[in-house]
Amino acid sequence: MEAYPVFQGLRRTHYIRTFGDYVELLWDNKVTHYLWSGELGFRTLGNSNFLKAVYEDPMPLHLELRENFLEKRLVKAQEQLGRVLEGKTVMADLSGGKDSTAQLILLDRLREKIRFNLIAVYVHMPYLEPLENISFAERVAERIGVPFYYKEADRGMIRYFLQRDSLPKRGDRWCTYLKSKALREARKELKADFEAKGDRMLESGKRMKKLKNMAIKTSFIHGKTLNLIYDFSAAETAKIVKEHHLVHPHYLQGIPRVSCRFCPYRGLYEIQASKNQEVEDEGFLEDSARTHFRRYYSMIVPWDIFWELSLWRFQPSLARLRLQEMRNVDYGEFVSITDVRRMLASMWEVL
Ligand code: SF4
Repeated sequence: MEAYPVFQGLRRTHYIRTFGDYVELLWDNKVTHYLWSGELGFRTLGNSNFLKAVYEDPMPLHLELRENFLEKRLVKAQEQLGRVLEGKTVMADLSGGKDSTAQLILLDRLREKIRFNLIAVYVHMPYLEPLENISFAERVAERIGVPFYYKEADRGMIRYFLQRDSLPKRGDRWCTYLKSKALREARKELKADFEAKGDRMLESGKRMKKLKNMAIKTSFIHGKTLNLIYDFSAAETAKIVKEHHLVHPHYLQGIPRVSCRFCPYRGLYEIQASKNQEVEDEGFLEDSARTHFRRYYSMIVPWDIFWELSLWRFQPSLARLRLQEMRNVDYGEFVSITDVRRMLASMWEVL
C-alpha cells in the first residue's frame, strides 16, 4: 500500500502505511514496524520470516499536487478520446473509494466536451462487504449526476464458497473471481463499449507493472479499458473527492482502504478499526470459519486466538509464522488504535 502523509497541524511529520499485520511509520531516516494486536501495535524487534512473507515494497511517496492536474488531464483526455468515445457507452466501476470516485468525476466533466453515455456500476459482495458501502456509492453517483447500476456478485456461489472453503485467504481469493464475473455481466447487460477502472500505478508494485504500458504510451485506453487516473497519486485523487465533498466516511475513521470488511488483504489494524461495520450475517461467517478452523488450524492455535487474530486470512503455514511473530516484539513500546486512526485520517483534514 502507498504510504499516507501524516500531519500535525499543517506540518507533515512522517508517513504511515499498513501491510500484513504491521503498521509502518516512515520518518526521514528511520522506519518502525508495529505488529498489531487488539487495540495496540507493538514495536517489532527486527526482521522475521513473517515480515519477509508479507512485506510489500513501499511505493514512491508523492504528496505534491501537480499544478492544475485535473484541468490538464481533461484537456489531454479530450484530445485523445474525442473521436473514440463520441456516442459510445462507458461503464465506470464505482466502489465509493477515492480512486473510482475521482475517476467518475473526471469522466462526468469530460462529458461537457465529448458526448457519451456514462453509467456508474457498483458491485456489492454479499456477506463480506459492509452494507453502508452500497448507500455511499449510490449517493456518489447521484451527487455527480450519473445513472447508478447496482449489481450483486453471485450470492449463491459466495455461500457455496464460504461453506466449502470458508472466508477468502491470501493467495486463494475466490471472491475476486466472482466480483470480476459480476462486472463482466454488467458490461454485457449495459452493452457498454468501454469499462473505466480506477486503478493507479502508485498503489502497489503489481499495479505499477500492470499499468506501465499505459504510462509508456501516455494513453488512457488499453483494449476496452479506460483509465484517466492511472498516474495520479493518492493525494491527487483524495484532493478531487474532497473538493467535491465525496470523501468516504471510512477514510475519516482512519481506515486507509474502502473494501470488504472480511478482506484477507486487510491488516489486523484495519480489521480492528472496522469491526463496527455492519455486514449482513456475521454469525454465518463465524460458523464457516469455525468449521475450517477445526479441519486445518485446531492443532496450531485455540479458536479464540484464531478468531481474534483473524488467522482465517492466512494459510496454516503463514498462520504459524504470524503466531511466532508475537515473540518478536517489545511489549513496552506501542502505538494505540486512536494514534493510528488519527495519523491515517490527518491527510484528509489538511488537503
Ligand atoms: S475487497 Fe478483498 S474480500 Fe472483497 S472482493 Fe476484493 S479481495 Fe475479495
